[in-house]
Amino acid sequence: MMVGLLGLQGAFLDHIHHLNSLGIQCHIVRDAEGLREIDRLIIPGGESTVMGKFLHEFEMIAPMRERILDGMPVWGICAGVVLLAETVDGSPGRLDVLAVSVERNAYGRQLASTIRDIDISIPDISDGVNAFPGIFIRSPRITASGPGVTIHARSMGDPVFVQQGRIMATTFHPELTQTAVFHRYFLSL
Ligand code: GLN
Repeated sequence: MMVGLLGLQGAFLDHIHHLNSLGIQCHIVRDAEGLREIDRLIIPGGESTVMGKFLHEFEMIAPMRERILDGMPVWGICAGVVLLAETVDGSPGRLDVLAVSVERNAYGRQLASTIRDIDISIPDISDGVNAFPGIFIRSPRITASGPGVTIHARSMGDPVFVQQGRIMATTFHPELTQTAVFHRYFLSL
């Protein structure tokens, strides 16, 4: 299995050791050609406006969308959730494949970054431990979700980990913690 890390900007390198610890190789994807070489894709946290601009300039939006709609598992983290979302701050999202509306930077600026324990409702992830330290860095807030979207975890009442088929989205950063449970779950999709 080859996992792609979208490597245009942001925290993509932090996923490598988690994937390697699970015996998985990864490929850094920087163009439409790279999308053909992978079985799954992680869209990292970072800055969604910058990534969105590059995705557009490098003509990656349509092929990425096509592969996701075709069933390729994808995991968006923070800015990645913004890119996957159907609606962003009231306007259509870049990839428009995940039936959620998000509000960018809804919890405050960089200085308002925080670690909050979140309760996860699926045993596959929690390994018997329910509270997971969620690292939130200028996270988007998921303000609405469609009927096909399952909410696996909330923080302060808001969904922070959702799934729609093989599309997984976390508004916090599991790659910055020690455990690979989220990576393992993503590989199971
Ligand atoms: N605020 C950023 C954005 O909207 C996301 C921040 C992050 O990925 N940690 O793109």
